[in-house]
Amino acid sequence: MLKTYHGSCHCGAVRYEADIDLQAETHRCNCSFCAKARNWGATIKPSAFRQLAGEDALTEYTFNSRSARHLFCKHCGGRPFSRGDVPEIGGAYVSVNIACIDDISQEELGRLPVKYMNGRDNDWWHAPAHTAHL
Ligand SMILES: [Zn+2]
Repeated sequence: MLKTYHGSCHCGAVRYEADIDLQAETHRCNCSFCAKARNWGATIKPSAFRQLAGEDALTEYTFNSRSARHLFCKHCGGRPFSRGDVPEIGGAYVSVNIACIDDISQEELGRLPVKYMNGRDNDWWHAPAHTAHL
């Protein structure tokens, strides 16, 4: 069910709201970035995302193909969301960091469906052999 969630970085400088169906899918990945950042994301269209504060607090990190902009708050280092553009998944997207959603209960977090992606082997459509640590 589509629901509007609110999220922020740790210091609160960056705030957003986003319309997400978290029961549909969330994802964890073992690619070089997600593994080190322990990223847990939900991918939505940019039209479902509204940044409410902190555009000037954001800075970004990109690597490799530079198709993903890994945004983070320059005050606290929090990574409330990232942006990217990948034709294979439908073009422009926002990946909301589920760990930065403020108005979600621990119970709801614990029940979210997780899809695992084997980004480490560039095999994004399949789960890797080992997922417990992601
Ligand atoms: Zn911050």
